[in-house]
Amino acid sequence: MKIKVFKTQDKFLDVEVLNPDATIQDYLDAINIWIENSMDPPCRGCDECCWERIPLTSIDVLNYVEKMEKLLALEGPWPVLSFLKDHCYVYVEGAVVDISLGFTLDGACSFLDQTERICSSYLARSLVCQSFVCIESTERARELRSQLVNSGMDELVRMWLMQSKQAGQKPFMHEQYQADPSLEDYPSNAFSGKSSYDKILLKDICTAKLWSQLC
Ligand code: SF4
Repeated sequence: MKIKVFKTQDKFLDVEVLNPDATIQDYLDAINIWIENSMDPPCRGCDECCWERIPLTSIDVLNYVEKMEKLLALEGPWPVLSFLKDHCYVYVEGAVVDISLGFTLDGACSFLDQTERICSSYLARSLVCQSFVCIESTERARELRSQLVNSGMDELVRMWLMQSKQAGQKPFMHEQYQADPSLEDYPSNAFSGKSSYDKILLKDICTAKLWSQLC
């Protein structure tokens, strides 16, 4: 076991790194196992967390495109760009870009089956969905999740800008205010060039301060 997920005496969710070679996938596996064994009532059949903004990482989008290719019916030579346009929400204000999963008019995630109250994209669901736990978390657990999402989103924005350029298209935006996104603002990071969470070490994402807290 490389990551320990547990409840503190104060009933907060906490995360501890036991092995410095732990990857993001180790973190997600540990959270998923903890949720499966500890949530009461269980998550299954509960859609409370599916009505919030779901920020995405580059790997989330690659997973959706790969694992749900047929269902999504993505067309054309740029499936990532098609997915972002048809199933996500790209919001741009100046140089700042936010990319989240698409939602319905009543505010639910567009992948939520509202009749059954289950996720229709369960096998591809995002890092944020997998790591959501509906109890309070410790500061280091919150910060870890936040740093993972921020780095992954930065790489997703980089991918969106690069692929739009390669495709000879203007980057597609659903909402924009004086949009001026630039590749220079989104340098490569530990997510760059990776297509799965088991290829990224947590220590390559975390700040030195957070890493020492987690270990
Ligand atoms: S992707 Fe699935 S788990 Fe995540 S918010 Fe949407 S319906 Fe819920």
